Amino acid sequence: MSQEKPILPFESPVVPEMLKLNDKIRFNCYKGISCFNACCKQADITLAPFDIIRLKQRLGMSSEEFLAKHAVPFQMDATGLPGLKLRTEDERPVCLFVTDEGCSVYEDRPSACRYYPVGLLTMRASDSPTEEHHYAMVREDHCKGHEESRTLTIAEYRKEQDVEIYDEMNREWYQLILKKKSGGPAVGKPSEMSFQLFFMCSYDIDRFRRFVQSDSFKKVYDLPESDHAGFGDDVTLMKFGFRLLKQVLFGEFTIPMKEGAYEQRLAERQEVIEMKRQAEAEREKKKDVFNNPDLLDKFYG
Ligand code: SF4
Ligand code: SF4
Repeated sequence: MSQEKPILPFESPVVPEMLKLNDKIRFNCYKGISCFNACCKQADITLAPFDIIRLKQRLGMSSEEFLAKHAVPFQMDATGLPGLKLRTEDERPVCLFVTDEGCSVYEDRPSACRYYPVGLLTMRASDSPTEEHHYAMVREDHCKGHEESRTLTIAEYRKEQDVEIYDEMNREWYQLILKKKSGGPAVGKPSEMSFQLFFMCSYDIDRFRRFVQSDSFKKVYDLPESDHAGFGDDVTLMKFGFRLLKQVLFGEFTIPMKEGAYEQRLAERQEVIEMKRQAEAEREKKKDVFNNPDLLDKFYG
């Protein structure tokens, strides 16, 4: 059975030992430890959809406002799949939520903060439909929690940090990303439009809500009013967004479409592709004309 192996960079702080739920770790973290807040002053936190929902609700902000104030974009893979990190101070990697008393959003802190210093490695064997979770310790010099004597299993640590609900909520999204990555180059570079849809469904839940309420959405998707009524809830809408992404990106149809809407969309898309192809061919022709003296003669001749 072939399996994707994690590739760790040279001098990575990740200890190269795969841990399972019942494996024990030695670690403790508490207010008063000598390194208190050190990790939050060197923050590099990748955000998942449920992290954003919890934080924006906690802060009483719309998703647009949260993204503008607290998130920074990055590319999750070579094709440019959009990711988000938690914003830090401009000049230093200090999290905007850290105070002398600790994390000011502690009860709603992101999943990556909860896991630290445990890293979650999600992998899927090429011949398996389900993914496997492994864990690894991250040892950084600033973190003195590793010198403490307390031992506990990974399962106990996850429970203590309340990460289970985060993993449960984000599971389908991680599956989408894994699937996208394991699709490899054969799948080709996704279109700009599919990246925009991925961004909106993953991170910008309030904009996504306006989108599903729009006439153009209702013209294509055949959903009962009761489904639309449930979309007032961020988590329900987030889960619907994962379904929509699976349908649009991977053709896993679970959302009914209006009669003929799929064919019409395909035809419209074909039209756009053809227009782009013609524009591209036109550009190439002009390039050829200027690079090729024979063609140049013909062009002006
Ligand atoms: S959100 Fe809280 S726990 Fe996470 S880095 Fe910021 S201050 Fe630290
Ligand atoms: S023990 Fe590690 S996780 Fe806890 S405050 Fe110190 S640096 Fe952060």
